[in-house]
Amino acid sequence: MAKQFEDNYHRKFYYLRLSVTDVCNFKCTYCLPDGYHPQQKKKPSFLTLEEIQRVTGAFAQCGTSKVRITGGEPSLRRDFTDIIRTVAEQPGIRKVATTTNGYRMARHVHEWRDAGLTNINVSVDSLDPKMFYQITGENMFNQVMEGIDAAFDAGFEQVKVNTVLLKDLNSQQLPQFLNWIKTRPIQLRFIELMQTGEMDQLFNKHHVSGVSIRNYLIANGWVLKLKSNNDGPAQVFCHPDYQGEIGLIMPYEKDFCKSCNRLRVSALGKLHLCLFGEHGVDLRDLLQQDEQRDELIARIQGGLAEKAVSHFLDEGNTGMTPNLASIGG
Ligand code: SAM
Ligand code: SF4
Repeated sequence: MAKQFEDNYHRKFYYLRLSVTDVCNFKCTYCLPDGYHPQQKKKPSFLTLEEIQRVTGAFAQCGTSKVRITGGEPSLRRDFTDIIRTVAEQPGIRKVATTTNGYRMARHVHEWRDAGLTNINVSVDSLDPKMFYQITGENMFNQVMEGIDAAFDAGFEQVKVNTVLLKDLNSQQLPQFLNWIKTRPIQLRFIELMQTGEMDQLFNKHHVSGVSIRNYLIANGWVLKLKSNNDGPAQVFCHPDYQGEIGLIMPYEKDFCKSCNRLRVSALGKLHLCLFGEHGVDLRDLLQQDEQRDELIARIQGGLAEKAVSHFLDEGNTGMTPNLASIGG
């Protein structure tokens, strides 16, 4: 193995989030409220299968063991199953995950599993179909629920569900969510709304901290679980009476960045050291031939030297990120 990717603050990077497209078919109010629009007139050309193979190969050589394929909506790529297979084939990659809005899961999740997908996250912002529509702009609640059933059927032992916590919307529905996971091995993760560049009033209106949920859980017998080194930033709670778990992702909490273990590569081949706050290091010219691997690794290592200690979101910074779909949330 080449030298493990590490930054100036001794954080090691086991986890790559790889965006494979910016395109999305949903219109989530906090992400793409007006739907997807390309940033330039020319149709963007997203990473090819060969480029994906080269970039994940380089990361794997430097200690990355987990890759999450994300977007935009990654399952919109026609070659999505081949992407999963390509990533899974890289020596050293032990976990291949994806984050999806779930609309293609019911039909394709078996095929994804067979190709090597080991972990799946589905976004479900409400268990009430009307509110689901209100938040995502799509009437696909039942389809997404069928997708989750299909994932269990395909052999996933646990499904993770991402729910962006929104004040006066789903924040009132904790009892419904808890009831849902009582008999299902679902890790339901409440993500605090993050402020991005294109967001104006929404953040002030709907941001709410996860603290009150954490207090509720602790007061009701839920216990915080320990983490392993390629786990995400969620604080995960379990309870003996529940098959499911609750995760809390609270990016505004002090020290959130201390345990950062992930790097991102955008669908256009830029290395992003953080979700927020920088332009990215272009890697694309070094993804054209297998022989460029050493140079590619050196460029990534050079970029890492610039990784900041924190995202400074708590100071109102939204950096360069217009929305999370554009960089792979
Ligand atoms: N389209 C896929 C999906 O929605 O699952 C993958 C990409 S999406 C950008 C990844 C995750 O980021 C989703 O769970 C979404 O809810 C979350 N997300 C998007 N914008 C966000 C924001 N402003 N604050 C917090 N989470 C956000
Ligand atoms: Fe699409 Fe995911 Fe953004 Fe919703 S959160 S608009 S599904 S990329």
